[in-house]
Amino acid sequence: MEGWLGQASGLVPGNYLSQGTQAAASRRKLFKSLLSNRKLPQEPWAEETVLLFIRELSELDSNNFVQNAGVGEREGRVLSRLVRDRHFGLSHGIGRSGDISAVQPKAAGSSLLCKVCNFLVKDALRVAGLLDVGYVTTVPVATGMALTLVLQALRRRNPKGKYVVWPRIDQKTCLKCVYAANAEALVVESDTEGDQLVTDVDAVESLVSGERAEEILCVLTTTSCFAPRAADAVVEISKLCQRKGVAHVVNNAYGVQSAELCASLTSAFRKGRVDAVVQSTDKNFLVPVGGAVVCAPKGRDGIPTEVDRTYPGRASMSPLLDVAITLLSLGSQGWADLLTQREELFGYLKAQVSSFASQRGERVLHTPGNPISVAMTLDGLRDGPCGGSDEKTRFLGSMLFQRCISGARVFAPGKSQRICGHDFANYGSHHPAYPHAYLNAAAAIGMTRQDVDVFLQKLAACWEKMGGTKDREKGEGAGAPSA
Ligand SMILES: *Cc1c(COP(=O)(O)O)cnc(C)c1O
Repeated sequence: MEGWLGQASGLVPGNYLSQGTQAAASRRKLFKSLLSNRKLPQEPWAEETVLLFIRELSELDSNNFVQNAGVGEREGRVLSRLVRDRHFGLSHGIGRSGDISAVQPKAAGSSLLCKVCNFLVKDALRVAGLLDVGYVTTVPVATGMALTLVLQALRRRNPKGKYVVWPRIDQKTCLKCVYAANAEALVVESDTEGDQLVTDVDAVESLVSGERAEEILCVLTTTSCFAPRAADAVVEISKLCQRKGVAHVVNNAYGVQSAELCASLTSAFRKGRVDAVVQSTDKNFLVPVGGAVVCAPKGRDGIPTEVDRTYPGRASMSPLLDVAITLLSLGSQGWADLLTQREELFGYLKAQVSSFASQRGERVLHTPGNPISVAMTLDGLRDGPCGGSDEKTRFLGSMLFQRCISGARVFAPGKSQRICGHDFANYGSHHPAYPHAYLNAAAAIGMTRQDVDVFLQKLAACWEKMGGTKDREKGEGAGAPSA
């Protein structure tokens, strides 16, 4: 019988006690093998097991010691019980002044949880197909801010570097992160290849070889994006960056969930130069917004380590805890299953949208380079006989939104927008002259078959209404957010 419970014999029969302690010991065995294997458990952990694990670690933090008299200015004191419970009694956060990965002496438990989160994430990346990853750090800021931290780290290494060569992607954060790092973007417009928009590798090459070559900070490519934009040609760009000695950062915001994107990143690691890859925790790991994962290929850990080392101060551990809890609750099997389901649903979504479109004289844009997002033309709505217009196209977007379809996005050509001093013609389509209006939908992790079915039902209902009496819909469609 283990430790203190030995004293209980005589109070409760020994055989009952040993049965009980065996059950508790089997939980502890899981903890032990987690810490020795340093990867995802094969099987999902039960909620109680996860909770016990966190509680045990929480007891190692000084704010939870029974006999602790804090006389410092940071003692992890929490007034509200709701707040304390929300954090499982963990209140020291992570890091010490000036290094987010440094172990905090007052918080052995929190410090350990931070390491656990990062090795779980590293293994989750491996299961998803992103191989040869070296250093991984999960930071408590979202993707855009994490990209800014990465660009700042690059600037410290290359003080002359000022320009970021940036294949256009119409997502404001992707550009704002460059200016937040006090750098400037050199915008590279996409090439068209059939329906899809692809990286103009030659244009990137001429920028990194041109007169401003010395002042190029890096090339910033993006993998996950709305169709008809395809993922950037990360393999070719990484080879180019290797050849030219230019840094290469990848915005892989929600790319972890795609085996195809993971495979091309692995290939970019092996064939060329990648300095850092940044991905969102909420978009890939089904947790609330709050974190991002910064990683680099094995043997080239410089930038993510620099991000950790220069983080000014301590940070919240909550985003890391959320990820750790989620990954332990999934285990490698549960995580792999989720990824497989997503791949299947992407096929299903594409097929369903395709058949919907073809019945209405539209079609799904051919975008084989985008494994997550689907785009269906809305050309008939624009040029239709019953007074179709871009207004009408946008109207469809707001109708869907009002019917609780979130995430469907409608693009109608013609709007330009100024962002960070750049004028983008046809903003929203990633291209100054994309010839179609279209509707986007994405098969993202956690989506269900039912989500797809309900989306198509409501889309069909909206379509009918649009084609029929226009007047009855008056007043509807206001108040929806634009893309
Ligand atoms: C979501 C997203 C971002 C912004 O991410 P935040 O997590 O909100 O900072 C940037 N780039 C791409 C491609 C995205 O999808």
